[in-house]
Amino acid sequence: MKCAYCGKEAKGTKEHIISSAVLDLFPECFLTFDDARSVIHEADPMVKDVCADCNNNKIAYIDSYAKEFISQYFTRRYNEDDTVEIEYDYVMIQKMLLKYAFNDSRSHKEDCSFFDKEILHYIMNPCDNAPKENVTVLCGLAINVSPMHEAMFGNLKLRWCKNPLFYSNSTIRNIDYETGQIFLNENVEKEEFPDLQLSYIFRFNSVQFLLMCWSKNSKKIQQNNVVLEHQYPYHLMKVNDEKVALPICTNEFNYHNYEHIHVCWDGLFEVGYLRKHASGGTYKYKELFEKEWVVEEKRIKDKHPR
Ligand SMILES: [Zn+2]
Repeated sequence: MKCAYCGKEAKGTKEHIISSAVLDLFPECFLTFDDARSVIHEADPMVKDVCADCNNNKIAYIDSYAKEFISQYFTRRYNEDDTVEIEYDYVMIQKMLLKYAFNDSRSHKEDCSFFDKEILHYIMNPCDNAPKENVTVLCGLAINVSPMHEAMFGNLKLRWCKNPLFYSNSTIRNIDYETGQIFLNENVEKEEFPDLQLSYIFRFNSVQFLLMCWSKNSKKIQQNNVVLEHQYPYHLMKVNDEKVALPICTNEFNYHNYEHIHVCWDGLFEVGYLRKHASGGTYKYKELFEKEWVVEEKRIKDKHPR
């Protein structure tokens, strides 16, 4: 077997698609829902085409950073009133997401041409630390603002998929405030980004990342970044950011359907706000569910230690 990272002939070892150290933070999520193959199993998502040296030594520094970063801010849930300020190493965030995207693409036998020698060198070498201009990363807080508890859909705290759907306009045309009736905006077009080679969305419990990979010599990256930064409720990450307060990037629909990326003026954000206030400002049954769920989740964690 030829190692996917260093290219040497070696025996293949199992590489975790998402760092095992990150999965360790969420032992209660012990099932893997593999939508592409329509199976659910207890093994971790892996890909078996990486040599032992790359797996255990060369790319392991990324796993350490990922665990440190996610455990620092995102193992807990937040609510709408919380302010979450983060500090991060942009280069390490780029490397982490590129590695996960590369692993996932190979596991689905998809086109990996974006991950050329230059990108692999960047992932494999801690000293190669000039951020890639043709990679954009955005992040936002995933908060369940819906009346339904997330465990009702399978406790899917860790999720990722290729090419999420970016909307170009609001999915709601208007709201009749007299009656509460909602009028949908039919046929909202998908936002197309010129020179986009691939994109990914990742959710790690209470944070979501968008990874955008552009053609290397594209002249449209700046323009695409302006659209991304202003059209979506995410923070566009930068190399010299210091402290950043994360915006909430989810509404009551796409918290549960994370592959839909709504524009920041989407009426769904307002609908969620109205619904909650019409319910007296709290979701009583969701809170009752949450209390029970904390106990149940502890039981699952104890039963499935990592
Ligand atoms: Zn290797």
